[in-house]
Amino acid sequence: MTRPDPIYLDHAATTPLWPQARATMAPLLEGAFGNASSLHAAGRDARKAVEEAREAVASAAGVRPEEVVFTSGGTEADNLALKGIAWRARHEGRDGIVVSAIEHHAILDVAEWLARNGFRLSVIQVDADGVVDLDALAAAVDRTTAIVSVMQANNEVGVIQPVASAAEITRAAGARFHTDAVQAAPWIPLADADLLSLSAHKLGGLKGVGALLVRRGVGLEPLLHGGGQERGIRSGTYNVAGIAGFGAAVTATMQAQPALSERVRALRDRMEGALLERIDGVAVNGAGAERLPNNCNVCIDGVEANSLLMLLDGEGVAASSGSACQSGAPEPSHVLLAMGVAKERALGALRLTLGRDTSEDDVDRAVDVVARAVARLRR
Ligand code: PLP
Repeated sequence: MTRPDPIYLDHAATTPLWPQARATMAPLLEGAFGNASSLHAAGRDARKAVEEAREAVASAAGVRPEEVVFTSGGTEADNLALKGIAWRARHEGRDGIVVSAIEHHAILDVAEWLARNGFRLSVIQVDADGVVDLDALAAAVDRTTAIVSVMQANNEVGVIQPVASAAEITRAAGARFHTDAVQAAPWIPLADADLLSLSAHKLGGLKGVGALLVRRGVGLEPLLHGGGQERGIRSGTYNVAGIAGFGAAVTATMQAQPALSERVRALRDRMEGALLERIDGVAVNGAGAERLPNNCNVCIDGVEANSLLMLLDGEGVAASSGSACQSGAPEPSHVLLAMGVAKERALGALRLTLGRDTSEDDVDRAVDVVARAVARLRR
């Protein structure tokens, strides 16, 4: 018996390489192996590839090339933003860190670590749709705040945050505004922020590459000291091929974005509508808010997400849950809990995230598989 083609609906976790990224990287993995910091011809060729990628990322984000700091990914970019600003600001009498309750752990855990090391942490709550409470943010930010971090769009429920207003509140207090745009970047235009995190593998580049955009005049301490690359902000030999692929992936993403976002949104709406119609007890998380076009996150009554995911995987459907499974026992998602979803319901969360190659047939077959699996689990 032949198995049906697998259906990959976990593009928020990672998404395939753009062919343009692969083509840009190929020569750099073969003959062109120079170190971008070397002065000879091989080094200069490698440096050229890095600088072209820098220009591509800068142009996509509407910043200057010198405002792009390449990192090993979104996690490092987030760490560099928070720790780098916090460390610098302490000498200026600012020790306040403000983050939203629904940030990725690459922000939340850093903020908690800073709090254990002498900084004051305020965590801003969200409403039932997962939108950050701007009044609470305004009340928390003052002249002692070093940095505010509010993600541009959430990785679990896809809810787009009011980052322009959050940035305005932050800047009025003379603090720095950071946004984690890792999930937003593939789908919507990038926000304006003092610092902005990107990850290549979420938009068709390689894993282990990313960038922190640092606007001119924003001073921060490095996390990695060494060879002085990236104007001393991020030492370490350049991942030349990864960075070049990132640049190509960003360019391809920006060219495709308006039409692709529209197409994928229609598919997501079709999928969500079918799930609601065919399965009782389904609630769409963040339904009342503006969301990324590729995200569908639902709670399904009477179903435990991990059992559902296993059944889906057995049928070739790759999806994810909002919960983290550490030490064997599934934990409900901190994002859903912050939105006021009860713990038991949150354990039944299913995240389906579409990508640029997702077809109507994929969506229809996935809904069939989910409906059958839910019926089986409820038996
Ligand atoms: N921030 C968000 C919102 C993410 O979704 C992720 C990845 O899941 C990260 C940061 C971490 O990025 P990376 O995988 O490049 O370390």
